[in-house]
Amino acid sequence: MRMNVTGLVCALLAIFCIAPVWAQGRPGAAPPERYVLVHAGTLLAIPGKSVAKNQTVVVRNGQIDRTIDGYVGAAEAGVPAGTPTVDLKDKFVLPGLMDAHVHLRSQPSDMARGQGIRRGRAARLPADYTFNAVLYARRTLAAGFTTVRDVGSDDQSVFAVRDAINAGRMVGPRILSSGAALSATGGHADGSVVEGDQLSARLMDGTCDGPDECTRAVRFQHKLGADLIKFTATGGFSSTQTFEQQLFFPEMKAIVDAAHQLNMKVAVHAYTPNSIADAVKAGADSIEHGFFVDDATLRLMKKQGTFLVPTLAAAYPPPFLGVKDPESVRMRNEYRAFERAYAMGVNIAFGTDAGTFNHAENAKEFDYMVEFGMSPMDAIKAATMMTAQLFGLDDVGTLEPGKTADLIAVDGDPLADISALHDISFVMKSGVVAKQDGIMHDGFTYLPFGSDRVRGGGR
Ligand SMILES: [Zn+2]
Repeated sequence: MRMNVTGLVCALLAIFCIAPVWAQGRPGAAPPERYVLVHAGTLLAIPGKSVAKNQTVVVRNGQIDRTIDGYVGAAEAGVPAGTPTVDLKDKFVLPGLMDAHVHLRSQPSDMARGQGIRRGRAARLPADYTFNAVLYARRTLAAGFTTVRDVGSDDQSVFAVRDAINAGRMVGPRILSSGAALSATGGHADGSVVEGDQLSARLMDGTCDGPDECTRAVRFQHKLGADLIKFTATGGFSSTQTFEQQLFFPEMKAIVDAAHQLNMKVAVHAYTPNSIADAVKAGADSIEHGFFVDDATLRLMKKQGTFLVPTLAAAYPPPFLGVKDPESVRMRNEYRAFERAYAMGVNIAFGTDAGTFNHAENAKEFDYMVEFGMSPMDAIKAATMMTAQLFGLDDVGTLEPGKTADLIAVDGDPLADISALHDISFVMKSGVVAKQDGIMHDGFTYLPFGSDRVRGGGR
């Protein structure tokens, strides 16, 4: 039974259908309850547990209210007549996916399209990056990722896009942003020019040396709006640098202590055992990449509960870069850090490094995880519950009552064939339908429940 046209429009535009009620209501009157019913053919409410067939998910004010056996209508569910019903009877429904490592402000195709080349000036500007982040955030949500962590944007473009999404001004995933990645002078994320090596330039870029300066760098990113801190402990596949350790233990400790005091998690870009061990001992929450980690350091990570964010996709650059049998693939396959971490039971979150390849291709990380021995269920659990745990978000990651209604649907069964996650048919974020029948809701007037829409005013 498909919803009628009014119901469809209500589901897509959610708030528009009840906004006039608000506008006409008494000043200060509480907004009405907003319900959506979701008929799910197969429901994986809690990754790691078994699926249920023919379920009705009751969404109330953007949260999962309860789940009922069978397909029920408004009366039977005890919700107001006319409540929109989303028909996913032939779909596999699961929690919204989460990616712990993206770079929303760019991707390889930008330069190919000549972005930033103006009158011979090749540098891209914050304005270019902001536009990119708007576009790529939207594509990321369309790919089923309802929460992502942007780790390393040297300007404030992603803060602006995050805030616009949170304010209901545009469609996009929930974003946690680190702002600039902290780096030692000359390190992986040091983008400050030598001539501009003044304090303000260094702070904006996140460049710091010595514990005091690194503490200050943490405070500065926090002041700009960072949700977490990222620092780079070594070079990487994408840099011209070596894998030698760049930030040292006292600096790492200062960063982690300051970040934790300010209630921010710390993500550490690190490849080599010594740099990873120092970051873990300093109290870092996650090791990003970690391609050359040794078993002793993995044991330390397991003991401390430190997460590995494997970014396998970062080692497999896309074919259009023209690199045949790249060094990164050879080294990845030689060390097999992901396989060893999984076998040892280290916490593994889901992270791709999208931005080093094109956005919305995040699901290819699932292919690598499963190819390298992880079960599809564990891969889905990593991209939902485990990543939520790493983020410190207890209201997402499953579809249990009380959780935020972030849910997606695919045609195939990802537990049988993980590649089903490449083709996302439906996306609901915070109880609002963003994509249906493979079509993204197209517009910037995306108003989640509770937004302060001004009568007659645009946003
Ligand atoms: Zn990265």
